Amino acid sequence: MTRNPHAAEPFTDDDQEIAAALQDVSVPALLCSLVHMTGDPAWIRGDIRPRVAVSLDIQSGIPADEQAQVRRLALPAIRAYRDGGCLTHGLSHELLQEMMSFLGCRPVEGRLAGLFFDDLQFDGADTGAVAWGCEIPEDVKAASPVVVIGCGMAGILAGIRLEQAGLPFLIVEKNPGPGGTWWENRYPGARVDIGSHQYCYSFEPSDHWSEFYCQQPELLEYFTDIVEKYDLLPHCQFDTAVTKLRWDDEHGQWSVHVSGPNGTEEVIDARFVVSAVGSLNIPNLPDIPGMKTFRGPWFHSARWPHGLDLTGKRFALVGAGASGFQIGPAIAGDVEQLTIFQRTAQWIIPNPLYHAAVPPGDRWALRHLPFYGRWYRFIMTFGGIAAGTDPYRVEPGYEDQTGRSVNVVNATRADALLAWMKSIIAERPDLETKVVPDYPALGKRVLQDDGSWLRSLQRPNVELVRTAIARVVPDGIVSVDGTHTPADIICFATGFRHNDFLASMDVTGRGGVSLREQWGDEPTAYLGITIANFPNLFCVYGPGTNLAAGASLFYHSEFQVHYAMEAIRDTLILGARTCEVTPEAHARYAERYQAEIGQMVWSHPSIKHSHYKNPAGKVFTLSPWPLDLYWEWTRRVEGGDYVFA
Ligand code: NAP
Repeated sequence: MTRNPHAAEPFTDDDQEIAAALQDVSVPALLCSLVHMTGDPAWIRGDIRPRVAVSLDIQSGIPADEQAQVRRLALPAIRAYRDGGCLTHGLSHELLQEMMSFLGCRPVEGRLAGLFFDDLQFDGADTGAVAWGCEIPEDVKAASPVVVIGCGMAGILAGIRLEQAGLPFLIVEKNPGPGGTWWENRYPGARVDIGSHQYCYSFEPSDHWSEFYCQQPELLEYFTDIVEKYDLLPHCQFDTAVTKLRWDDEHGQWSVHVSGPNGTEEVIDARFVVSAVGSLNIPNLPDIPGMKTFRGPWFHSARWPHGLDLTGKRFALVGAGASGFQIGPAIAGDVEQLTIFQRTAQWIIPNPLYHAAVPPGDRWALRHLPFYGRWYRFIMTFGGIAAGTDPYRVEPGYEDQTGRSVNVVNATRADALLAWMKSIIAERPDLETKVVPDYPALGKRVLQDDGSWLRSLQRPNVELVRTAIARVVPDGIVSVDGTHTPADIICFATGFRHNDFLASMDVTGRGGVSLREQWGDEPTAYLGITIANFPNLFCVYGPGTNLAAGASLFYHSEFQVHYAMEAIRDTLILGARTCEVTPEAHARYAERYQAEIGQMVWSHPSIKHSHYKNPAGKVFTLSPWPLDLYWEWTRRVEGGDYVFA
């Protein structure tokens, strides 16, 4: 019998090594792991309990003396587990749910519990694995080719599921290799700002991360390894961009026009198309007068030149959102002068783990203690997911003279963030007017920091400019107040065309309808996945599905790919050719979406610039739904909302 992968690897380490490792572990995750080792629920029924469930505190507020006590008590239990051959005890569903409530500091029930059981997979089986392939006749499968566009997080996942279903498929990727955004964004300091242990597939144990927030090379390696492990390479066509998607009414299939290496054109027939193109990958280069006259290197952050020498250079960084915010501190020590042009100040959350390595004992525990990694993932995600979207909701009638909050909880958050920001710049009060935001907390994508950004702004060779840019000149940048900033290099960390979903290709659906015209500036999709007039097309990370709250996009990718696979299954089982959401269901969802997102802080009119907003200031990018609700909606396809023909 194969060992449950989440029961972790057996070990023979001696007592001293185990005791040393225990110094580094998350005590609440350890307590749960001990229940698996001993079968005794007393570990979670005693007086030592988590005090808070917040993703940034892996000790869940358990005081140091209590942590020490648990570590002491754990050693003999772990020794017995080791000496007994590392055999785990099967735990009942009820006990596992009790353990969730223990860590969550509140009853975890119903839909929320369902989501976590699905994600944590205590029985070791990948809950999202497709098992229905055998229900479909071989000739039907052979006649149902699928094209997946993009080989990043979502495209790789779609490939894994299609392989399990036994459907023929091709993953078309414009880059020379897999990894999507992590292939492209190679700027100094690039790292994920969602905890690594939740920034990975649910069915792939995550005992390997070297940092709590891993850097780009490690993330790229993760995706490359997964592609190899699941043998997806023979299905991948790299260096190939999809230029057009044409729905062929007569044959009930898509014609996928691609442009390969050296401009070779090809048309691929596909019965189904899964768009996994990402929504933050078409660079948004600003249109600043004189940009092309600059005589040094200038580039977008996602196109950082390989081997760029920064020594002795005056570096202008335009934009300080999630990308610029990572680039600045990473290069400040290498350049002669760094001038950062930031249009809008950013809210920053203190996160002491942001640049921290996962300590060796913790890595040992993740690799060897049964289900420790599962509970670790739970600790990292539960607080955000359980909070739902309420902290982001604008409370009707709520007033705040400072304009920095939209409800009482939000105000508390704003105060805490402000206090922390001010504490880091205490010796440079002049920076306060530059770094303190003037719009509600959480209204734009909040950045995480262990202080390195705010400290780097205090270096003698770094200047933060909040005055708008007037033009670029051959040797630098001129601000609207006439100040000339000399520069040898300019990097535009100015973000992506987030509102222009699927903009890299021309998509024509039933009856010749153009997707671009149907959408205009208001892109919508039913559940963010399917679009009326565009049969057999499934978007992953489509309109209204970016996450600014709750969890990592891996969760959404898994939900959406699951949903697409369910729709494909239903189509094939029904012997239908097409699956298309009805215009009524699409419109109903779009209306409900807009009613909800319009109440959220991201839509707040005081936020003048935000990549979440369309040119009219409306939001069509983010999900306003609590994760467990969206999980429930994407479990199965509601037949009444679709036409299978
Ligand atoms: P961004 O958050 O949209 O930031 C772009 C920056 O450029 C902002 O400071 C923006 O100012 C500025 N800007 C844009 N157009 C400008 C113009 N015409 N003139 C002057 N300034 C301009 O883009 P990003 O930093 O690339 O991040 C985009 C998204 O990618 C993030 O929200 C996140 O989802 C993802 N991301 C994630 C990570 C990670 O996980 N570590 C890292 C990077 C990116 P305003 O604020 O005034 O618009």
